[in-house]
Amino acid sequence: MQQPILPPDITVFVRGWLSSNNILIRGREACALIDSGYVNDAPQTLVLVKAALHGRPLDVLANTHLHSDHCGGNAALQAAYPALITHIPPGLSRFVSQWDPHALTYTPTGQSCPQFRFDALLLPGSEVSLGDKTWQVHAAPGHDPHSVILFEPASRVLISADALWERGFGVVFPELEGVDAFDAVGKTITLIESLAPRVVIPGHGSVFDGVEESIAVARERLDNFMRNPAKHISYATKVLLKFKLLEVQSVELSTFIAWARATPYFGLIFKQHFPELDISDWVEQLIDELVRSGVASRDGLMIQNA
Ligand SMILES: [Zn+2]
Repeated sequence: MQQPILPPDITVFVRGWLSSNNILIRGREACALIDSGYVNDAPQTLVLVKAALHGRPLDVLANTHLHSDHCGGNAALQAAYPALITHIPPGLSRFVSQWDPHALTYTPTGQSCPQFRFDALLLPGSEVSLGDKTWQVHAAPGHDPHSVILFEPASRVLISADALWERGFGVVFPELEGVDAFDAVGKTITLIESLAPRVVIPGHGSVFDGVEESIAVARERLDNFMRNPAKHISYATKVLLKFKLLEVQSVELSTFIAWARATPYFGLIFKQHFPELDISDWVEQLIDELVRSGVASRDGLMIQNA
């Protein structure tokens, strides 16, 4: 398949699923990076950015949202480039100032993110200068109530974060906490449709065009989840387990179950949706499903990433 054409000032580092993609925009005066990946991959993120910048500094860092796989490299980049100006969406900014890993979801999801600072806010409805161009900042609630997406109207390039992927969108986290957010997902998809992007740079996976088709796929997936919310819950819980497996690669089954039991999000999902089951049995059943679908493997008592 032919890669969609991006303007020459934009380079996308498409990463594995543990880390979000990183988007480097090189301007005449300043260079910007959007999203910095997960902490485990931070050394590789630095290598990729340094190699592409050929000795120039990175001037601006912007996060579409503050999930650990999108800002886990912030601290390393801030250390490597002390003059770096970091922009984040406003929603959780006070928890970044106070550094509250619980409110920032790192503790409840059992994920890591080193403390970073921010210097500016990406206010929805405003514009931000990235490289030589001015990008629109749009609110994109659904996957994360505080996420923003970035749109450059001249080239019609959209940085969609986890609001739209080539085939779907990210887990709708508020729904796991019992907060309605499927409608917000739908509205964000409609917003994206109204922007009519030519090319989309998603938070995960390859850059794509043919956006109408992706929008249709996302709507169908959303309809499915709305008709059968339990499907979304089970999918989301498996995504969290798979994320941990991507991080640790290999873990004893009992340790994995104990980790899930000690991770508040699992308890929350379990209490809300499956109070009649035993939590360890429930987690083991989900791990079995990961093995059956080929994204994990089991060798005796060991569970491996696959
Ligand atoms: Zn996310």
